[in-house]
Amino acid sequence: MTRKVLIANRGEIALRALRACKELDLKTVAIYSTGDKELKHLRLADETVCVGPASPLKSYLNIPAILSAAEVTRADAIYPGYGFLAEDADFAEKCEASGFVFIGPSSSVIRQMGDKITAKDLAEQSGIPIVPGYRGILPKDEIALKKIASDVGYPIMIKASAGGGGRGMRVVREEAELVSSINLTQQEAKNAFGNDTLYLEKFIQNPRHIEIQIVADGKGHAIHLGTRDCSMQRRHQKVIEEAPAQDVNAEALEITLNACLQLCKSISYSGVGTIEFLYENNQFYFIEMNTRIQVEHPVSEMITGFDLVKAQLKIALNMGMTLDQNEIIFRGHAMECRINAEDPETFVPSPGLISKMHPPGGFGVRFDSHIYSGYVVPPHYDSLLAKIITTANTRESCIKRMVSALDEFFVDGIQTNHSLHQKLLKDQTFCSNKHDINYLEEVFLSS
Ligand code: ADP
Repeated sequence: MTRKVLIANRGEIALRALRACKELDLKTVAIYSTGDKELKHLRLADETVCVGPASPLKSYLNIPAILSAAEVTRADAIYPGYGFLAEDADFAEKCEASGFVFIGPSSSVIRQMGDKITAKDLAEQSGIPIVPGYRGILPKDEIALKKIASDVGYPIMIKASAGGGGRGMRVVREEAELVSSINLTQQEAKNAFGNDTLYLEKFIQNPRHIEIQIVADGKGHAIHLGTRDCSMQRRHQKVIEEAPAQDVNAEALEITLNACLQLCKSISYSGVGTIEFLYENNQFYFIEMNTRIQVEHPVSEMITGFDLVKAQLKIALNMGMTLDQNEIIFRGHAMECRINAEDPETFVPSPGLISKMHPPGGFGVRFDSHIYSGYVVPPHYDSLLAKIITTANTRESCIKRMVSALDEFFVDGIQTNHSLHQKLLKDQTFCSNKHDINYLEEVFLSS
């Protein structure tokens, strides 16, 4: 019997999932909001269901509406994508309880990894290098608190265990700021996450962002697809991503890769996942594990030929996925530019009608996008319009191919960050791979 997957997302990732389902002969149900009737993948899905008004809270985050859409269409499984409910343990648990396969790890694993203190404890137990810090209960006594912080060593970062999306953290550079910063972060964490547990860790000043893509079957097999470098960021949002990360200490990498696989095995991880690190002075420091597909997954696909979304579906639906590290052959370099509907200088979102557009193409160019001429970008959602991905034998030729792809790409009617990418690809620091996570904001954009 053909199985049916409900795609609980929108935009490019919904289209990406739909394509993978088709290749696996899975039927598809596309959900949408009233603000999203023109989404490209709705025309390609077997069935569509409107789950609510444009506001994400009432549609793509509306758990009862999504579960009832799955029920009425008799879907077997739910594909969460990224963002929205992808890392919501309660949603995964409700899917499980209602008899739907949640395409991702179990709700209990999502819950464990969503708690930063638990995630760090588990990572450390598997031998993953973590940021030095203090994860015990913070004392009320100021002298004891100051002793803990000075043992960690300034500058430090105060973080909420339940934090996420860049919220619930604060840098403290000197002792005089410590107590007030702890009180503030505690209050914010209580208001935002309903949990005011905090921990302290060393603030890593000028790191690169390097992450490891893993795939595991929940039955003791786990493989990695190597590294990605996502150091070009603005406000913790990645702008350009590439694979593999270059100029990485081989010994530190080997230890870290093996420890990541060990973690997957120890928590019976099932599906794809990303283990994120800060990297400075030849050392990896674990920051978090994302228990879902990531926006930048195509760069890992392009250097390995391994389809991560198909793997997610096959693992979750027991379609006979075998994972063998020896079958993963790394080849060349890949790079992704995220094209957003926004002003390239002020970064203010720019929704509206795309009157005309031309996608880039050619050898080694991949264009993952849901947009088309005549599409109206709604104002209610993330501004990601397209991902341009280029692959070549070397990083240098990959950059050249991207420059050419960007020259071909054309969107009229709304503003995009296209010109920012064109400038970045000509930047000497970027081309020589010398940028860190602070470069874009603190150097490139402020000069
Ligand atoms: P979230 O789950 O909210 O995204 P993360 O722990 O992943 O939080 O951290 C988000 C970003 O904050 C990181 O990508 C990094 O840029 C910065 N960051 C986090 N921890 C540290 C640290 N110890 N030192 C320096 N920067 C940090």
